[in-house]
Amino acid sequence: MVVHDLSRPRAPRLPRWLGRPGFHVFLTGLLMVLGFMLAHRLSERSGRDQLSALSTERLELYASNLAAELGRHASLPSLLAIAPTLQTLMQAPGDEAARRAASQMMARVNVRAGTHQIFVATPQGEVLAASETLTPPPRLAEAVAQGRVHFFAADPSTGSTDFYLLHPLRQGGVTGGVIVVRFNLAPLEATWVDLGLRSQGERILVADEQDVVIMSSVQAWKYAVLDHADPSRRKALEASARYPQAVGRDLELPVTLEVHQGQQVSLTLPGASRPRPMLAQQRQILPLGLRLVALSDLSEVRQRAQYAAWGGAAFGASIGLLVLYLSSRRRALRQLTQAQAALRQAHGQLEQLVDSRTAELRQTNEALKTQIAQRLKTESELLQASKLAVLGQMSAGLSHEVNQPLTALRALARNSIRLLETGRADAVAANLQIMDDMVERMSRITRQLKSFARKADEAVTGAVPLLDSVRNALVLLDHRSRPMGLQTDIDIPEGLQVRAESNRLEQVLVNLFGNAMDAMEPESIRRLRVKASADDAGRVLVRVQDSGPGVPEADLPHLFEPFFTTKPAGEGLGLGLVISAKIIHEFGGTLRAERLPDGEGMSFEFDLAVAPAEAADV
Ligand code: ADP
Repeated sequence: MVVHDLSRPRAPRLPRWLGRPGFHVFLTGLLMVLGFMLAHRLSERSGRDQLSALSTERLELYASNLAAELGRHASLPSLLAIAPTLQTLMQAPGDEAARRAASQMMARVNVRAGTHQIFVATPQGEVLAASETLTPPPRLAEAVAQGRVHFFAADPSTGSTDFYLLHPLRQGGVTGGVIVVRFNLAPLEATWVDLGLRSQGERILVADEQDVVIMSSVQAWKYAVLDHADPSRRKALEASARYPQAVGRDLELPVTLEVHQGQQVSLTLPGASRPRPMLAQQRQILPLGLRLVALSDLSEVRQRAQYAAWGGAAFGASIGLLVLYLSSRRRALRQLTQAQAALRQAHGQLEQLVDSRTAELRQTNEALKTQIAQRLKTESELLQASKLAVLGQMSAGLSHEVNQPLTALRALARNSIRLLETGRADAVAANLQIMDDMVERMSRITRQLKSFARKADEAVTGAVPLLDSVRNALVLLDHRSRPMGLQTDIDIPEGLQVRAESNRLEQVLVNLFGNAMDAMEPESIRRLRVKASADDAGRVLVRVQDSGPGVPEADLPHLFEPFFTTKPAGEGLGLGLVISAKIIHEFGGTLRAERLPDGEGMSFEFDLAVAPAEAADV
């Protein structure tokens, strides 16, 4: 029988390999790698985005600073152009007094405006008047010729980058000179250096239209070529004389950087041995032809991504371990459920077994009860049958027994009538006495017979005088004992009472005496001894001994078997001893047979309980 637990839905069975330890190690490893990669990627991307946003913001700030710084004095040259002093100078460029007056005016304006230098030059670059003694920048004539309003040039002595604002001075439609206002961008640059130092991770550079770095928070980068310069280009750059020193090394930055869009570049910082990953972003300042580039160090982002990656790996590993835990828990639960199901199944089987065994036992019990009932019925019927058999045997003797006294009674009655006629009353009285005795004898026989034939109540026992029972039994067999001249030897104390039921005890005795007579019939000596005595334990041992030939040794074990008889058909039923043994057993005793030595006959003995003398007779 298979018992299924229907109260809980069964979890779907997972493939077996899912539960293997190898698979869990593999899964944990895979999750670690995935966690590592994913966390690294996400962290790097978010770090880059953050850095890029920050950098863009700064770039805007720097660009507006630069534009503001440069635009602050944008209108100064045009204002100066209308100054009368300069008009006068233009009218007489060679006049020393006009030059001096112009120089003095420009020196004052220079101080007040906070510019670096202000001067007036000829279109060929020759200085006419100036705020101070100076050397004009190399590109001045070229710029004037090109009609430019501003340009950058490096100061050859300090190396700082200067910004020049130009405004032509016209005289009668002809450009007679040019006003030049010079700014020094060193203070702005210094703030960048300062900022770069503070923020550590960020570097700023400004490249001109020739892709040469003209300002930078990193001093070593100044006048370096942004991308790469071959010898001819380098030569041309140097020939332009716009830069104070020979054009420096190549930064190898891609010049095609997209505006605002970060690009990762690899750059070796001054003093560092290895290139570092940097995020490059640029913003163009179109009117000035400049581009502002911010380079942010990605090392920190990388570092953080590295940490995040290990965190991701740890997370992946914990998920793997969690899966392992859940799977082993699930396995343990499944085993528990299986064990419970097996237990339930075993229990169910046991119950079924017990039920079937109980049913079998009940059936057997019923069958036994039926058998017992049948047996009891059969026994009772057999008992009655055996009695009837004894009665049958007795009936012949009885008729003789009764007929004789009847004949005698008739003779005595007739004799008494005659004696009365003759007046012999005393003889009549003697006759009547004899007749009374005879009637008494006959009535005793019939009484015994009647009580014997009655089916006794088996359960009732009482105190039975043993001697009376023996005598009654002998009376019942008198018709047999007398013709055969049976000698009886009764040795039973008067008044000895046993616990029994008188009828059935007499039945036993009749049986034993009858068997003894049967056995002694062919013998010459026919002696029957009946002996009884009480012992100290309250038991009475009754012994019936005959002088017959005894039971052959081979037959002894079969004596108490039903239907064992040696008598011819019609005479013996083979039930007498069986029933006698049963009756004695019911009285609480045992019937035993014993062959007396030297062919002295048989002895049957049984024991009964002594009944107290005062107990009621049954
Ligand atoms: P039945 O008398 O009908 O044969 P019993 O059970 O009374 O049945 O006796 C069984 C047999 O035991 C008798 O047939 C007889 O052979 C033997 N038996 C019983 N009593 C004696 C005895 N006193 N002496 C010899 N044989 C006996």
